[in-house]
Amino acid sequence: MSIIEIIKERLHIEDIVGRYVLLTKSGKNRRGLGPFHNEQTPSFFVFPDSQRYKCFGCGTNGDLFDFVMQREGWDMDTALRELAVRVLQQYEADEGPLTAAQLRQIRQRVPQGGARSVRTRLFDLASS
Ligand SMILES: [Zn+2]
Repeated sequence: MSIIEIIKERLHIEDIVGRYVLLTKSGKNRRGLGPFHNEQTPSFFVFPDSQRYKCFGCGTNGDLFDFVMQREGWDMDTALRELAVRVLQQYEADEGPLTAAQLRQIRQRVPQGGARSVRTRLFDLASS
């Protein structure tokens, strides 16, 4: 399983987008004001089933990687690194502290470019 698959399996797009946009329920989807342009009427939708978003105001759409890259100005490596750290934090909150073997397994899956930063934060997590 690739790091992208792990992240998509573990994180919910509505939780990630919900950190930036106030979302309300709209059927089984979520709706809010488009974060990429000014608007008065919410035309920005998040679709939990397909793990994608679309703004019907400006046509912007994508998955959770596209969203954080566009919103934060991150490149793909940075998005992978930041979301991998989020997976780790969530994993610890859900399932308790990671074992040494689990930490090793996740570290091996973090992209090379982001390895040092994630490892630093892993050690912070492991020791807190
Ligand atoms: Zn828009």
